Amino acid sequence: MNHAPEKVLVGSLQKFSVEDGPGIRTTIFLKGCPLSCKWCHNPELIDPQQQLIQSPNNCIGCECCVSICPRGAVTINPEEGIVIDRTKCDVCLACADECYAKALRPVARQMTIDEILRIAEQDKGFYDNTEGGITISGGELLMHAELVSKLIDEAGKRGINVCMDTCGFGESQALMEMALKENVTDILFDMKSIDDAVHRAYTGVSNGLIIYNLRMLAADARTVDKLIMRMPLIKGVNDNDDMIKRTGELYREIGVKRVNLLPYHSLGIGKKRNVGGTQEEFEKPTEERLTEIEIYFKDEINLEVEILGRA
Ligand code: SF4
Ligand code: SF4
Ligand code: SF4
Repeated sequence: MNHAPEKVLVGSLQKFSVEDGPGIRTTIFLKGCPLSCKWCHNPELIDPQQQLIQSPNNCIGCECCVSICPRGAVTINPEEGIVIDRTKCDVCLACADECYAKALRPVARQMTIDEILRIAEQDKGFYDNTEGGITISGGELLMHAELVSKLIDEAGKRGINVCMDTCGFGESQALMEMALKENVTDILFDMKSIDDAVHRAYTGVSNGLIIYNLRMLAADARTVDKLIMRMPLIKGVNDNDDMIKRTGELYREIGVKRVNLLPYHSLGIGKKRNVGGTQEEFEKPTEERLTEIEIYFKDEINLEVEILGRA
């Protein structure tokens, strides 16, 4: 018999979230995602393995990391400060243990379901008063389906509702089983691009399975009203008329009722650099274009539309 893993890598638990589903929520960011969106806002959570992350502004120049590293992966560069050679680093985390300034840290920590829920439960009063709860995000929760399923059940036993935040790329049966759970009240379902070629080019995978899973959830009367579509909008990538209209037609056909629009922001660039990579910079659509898209979904497709993170 298979057993769910006891622990999962958690990047962070964000309390008092108000843009990750209804009410006041604690958002749990799990590590590991099967996509690699070029604009990812949490690029440090894509790799399912532990990583070392730098916060260069915290560095006090004590050089402890240089002397402790068993692999000679840390050097000091007069212009850049501490430089980690990621080809040598095996993420032993000895440097992070020594770095009192927290300029070097593990991206995530292993947590049990009970440890996660003990923190989330501290705010149960806020959830109860605002129809909030916890949101399981990432990364991608479907990469940890067995453990997440248990987490949802355990939250239910403690009277906590759950919002699932998924990119939709994962095993259909596991997704459906989770979506059907009574204490799952909402499902934030990403739609990066309805165009498969664009989807492949910018996320690294086809949208075929994602749209299949979306249709599956929308076709079931027990799950359709839980769906809130989430669309990152990146100028010149997925905000053109053709793509927006094809997306609207799909939403009308399958009967989803709510959509969140998320204009691009560049927060991922620094995080990606801090785990040893680079991320391209994009632009968000103009305010006029955002308003046009909002009006289209509201007036022509009859959806409830919310624009999140509008600067
Ligand atoms: S699906 Fe989300 S977490 Fe995964 S790569 Fe895309 S933006 Fe990042
Ligand atoms: S141990 Fe931390 S604070 Fe000291 S030099 Fe290294 S990164 Fe900077
Ligand atoms: S985590 Fe990497 S850089 Fe830090 S001590 Fe270990 S091998 Fe060296």
